[in-house]
Amino acid sequence: MEKLNENILADPEYDGRDIALTHFSVKLLKEAGVWGRIPNISKSPIKEARVLNGYSPYFLHFDHRKAGCDELGYLISNHLIRKAYYDEIKNFSNIELITDTTVTSINRNPEAATITLSNGKIIETRLIIAADSRFSETRRGEGISARTLDFGQICVVCRMQHEEPHFDIAYECFYYGRTLAVLPLTENQSSIVITAPSNQHNKILNIAENKFNKEVSAQFKFRLGNMKLISKRFAYPLIAVYANRFVSTRFALIGDAAVGMHPVTAHGFNLGLKGQNALAKEIKNALEKKIDIGYPSVLTNYQSIHRRVSYPLYLATNGIVCLYTNETSKARFLRKIILKLANNIWPVKRVILNKLTAIED
Ligand SMILES: Cc1cc2nc3c(=O)[nH]c(=O)nc-3n(C[C@H](O)[C@H](O)[C@H](O)COP(=O)(O)OP(=O)(O)OC[C@H]3O[C@@H](n4cnc5c(N)ncnc54)[C@H](O)[C@@H]3O)c2cc1C
Repeated sequence: MEKLNENILADPEYDGRDIALTHFSVKLLKEAGVWGRIPNISKSPIKEARVLNGYSPYFLHFDHRKAGCDELGYLISNHLIRKAYYDEIKNFSNIELITDTTVTSINRNPEAATITLSNGKIIETRLIIAADSRFSETRRGEGISARTLDFGQICVVCRMQHEEPHFDIAYECFYYGRTLAVLPLTENQSSIVITAPSNQHNKILNIAENKFNKEVSAQFKFRLGNMKLISKRFAYPLIAVYANRFVSTRFALIGDAAVGMHPVTAHGFNLGLKGQNALAKEIKNALEKKIDIGYPSVLTNYQSIHRRVSYPLYLATNGIVCLYTNETSKARFLRKIILKLANNIWPVKRVILNKLTAIED
C-alpha cells in the first residue's frame, strides 16, 4: 500500500539521490530479480574512495585492489531502483498494489490485525509491515517512539558534467563549513552531494547556475576541470532517526521507518535491504515450520538481528558527522589524526572494506 499514484511508481522521476550499493545489496537485488532490470549503462562502478579533511591534499584511501574485488560498489540512481522493483512486482499475481491510499487506522491484538485504508477498504492480516519513510506516520500512530537527531543541516544533490575523467573514484571532502561528495557516474558525469547548515538552503538551491558551477569546480580544486550542472538541484533535510523498537504485536518496521541514517556513510538503503532480508528470512522460517508469521518470537528474532547490525553503524555515522562538522581547533586536530590512523591501521581499513564488499550478511 502506497500513498503515491501508480503512474509515479511506474515511471518515477530522478530525485537527485544516487545510491552507493554494497556487494551484499547487489546480491539481494539480484535475488529479488531487480538487478537485471536496471540498464547496465546506469550501473556505475566505484573503484576507489578518497576521504579528505579540510583543505589538506592528504586523503584516506580505499582501493578495490586491496579488497580483492573489481569494484568497491556501484552507484545507481534511486529512481531506477524504484522503477525496477515496480516492474518486478507487477509480475506477481499474489501481490496486490494499492496506490493513492494511506492508512486510516490499525487494530492489533495477539490473535489478528486489521488495517482500515483511506479508500474505506479493510484488510485483515497476521502481520503488518510499515516502510513509510523515516518520518513514518504509521510508527508514530502505533505508539513506537524514536530517537531523532536533527543535524541542523541540509543536503543538496544534483548531477554535474566535467571536463576531466573521474576514473571511477568517489570523493568525500570534509571541508570547513560544508562537505562535498563527488561520486562517479558514467562517462564524465558525477553525482554531487553538498552538505551545509540549513540556513544556506536557499542560497545553494537558487544561486545562478554559472555561479554554482564555478563554486563547486573551485571547491573541488578543479580536480575534474570545469564542472557544469546538468540536472535540477534537490534538497533533503538531514535528520537521523532510530526507532526504539522495530516490532510490536503483529507489527514490524523496516527501511527508514526503522533506521533513517545520515547519508554521509551511504548506508541507509543498504541497511534497509539488510533489515528487509532479515525479516523475510524469519517469515520464511516460520512458514516452513508452520508457525504464525506474526508470532512474537518471529518478530523479536528479526528485531535483535537488525538492531545488532544497525545500531553500531548508526552511532558511528552520527559520530563521524558530529566530528567532521565541528570546526573547533580541537576537532580539526582530531579529524586529521583519525584520518591518518584509519589510513595506516590495516585492520580498521579491512573492516570498512569488508563492510562494502562482503557478499554474506
Ligand atoms: C541525498 C541522499 C543520498 C543517499 N545516498 C544513499 C547511498 O548512497 N546509499 C544508501 O544506502 N542510502 C542512501 N540514502 C538513503 C536512502 O535513500 C534511504 O535509506 C532509502 O531511500 C529509504 O527507503 P524507504 O523505502 O525505507 O523510504 P522512502 O524512500 O522514504 O520511501 C517511503 C515510501 O513510503 C511512502 N509513504 C510515506 N508515507 C506514507 C503513508 N502514510 N502511507 C502510504 N505510503 C506512504 C512514500 O510515498 C514512499 O514511497 C541517501 C539518502 C539521501 C537523502
